[in-house]
Amino acid sequence: MDDQYAHVLALGASCWQCGNPFAFDPQFVPSVFVDPEINFPPDVVAVARQAGRGPGDRVDLWGKVYELPASIEGYDVEAGKRRAVLQPLCDPCIQRANEANQRNGLPAQFTTEEQNRRTRLPRDVFGPGG
Ligand SMILES: [Zn+2]
Repeated sequence: MDDQYAHVLALGASCWQCGNPFAFDPQFVPSVFVDPEINFPPDVVAVARQAGRGPGDRVDLWGKVYELPASIEGYDVEAGKRRAVLQPLCDPCIQRANEANQRNGLPAQFTTEEQNRRTRLPRDVFGPGG
C-alpha cells in the first residue's frame, strides 16, 4: 500500500459504490482510495485521461457506469491521491465487479472481505483520531 495516502477509513460507513450501509472489518474489507473533494478515485481519473476521456464521459468501473465528474476539469491527480481516503466496498459490489470482468474476458480479480481474511495480512488502519 502506498504510504502517500492517508489511511483513513470511516468505520460503520456505507459502501462507496452502491451506498448501502454494511458492517465490516476495516482491516480486511475491500476498499478504494477516494478523493473526498470529487468523491471519485484519483487513479480512475488518471486512467480515464490516458484513454482520452474527460468530464461528462462515461466510464465502466467495477460493473457500474459512472459519469466522470465535472470537477475533474484541471484536476491535479497527485494532489487528489494525497487527499484520498479508503472507502469500503460491499461483497455484492465485489461480485458485480468480478462478473463485469468476466464478461469482458478479464480475470475475476477482486476479493471479498472473507477471502481477504483468509489470505491477507491485516491492513494498517488508522481510524479517525489516529
Ligand atoms: Zn456496494
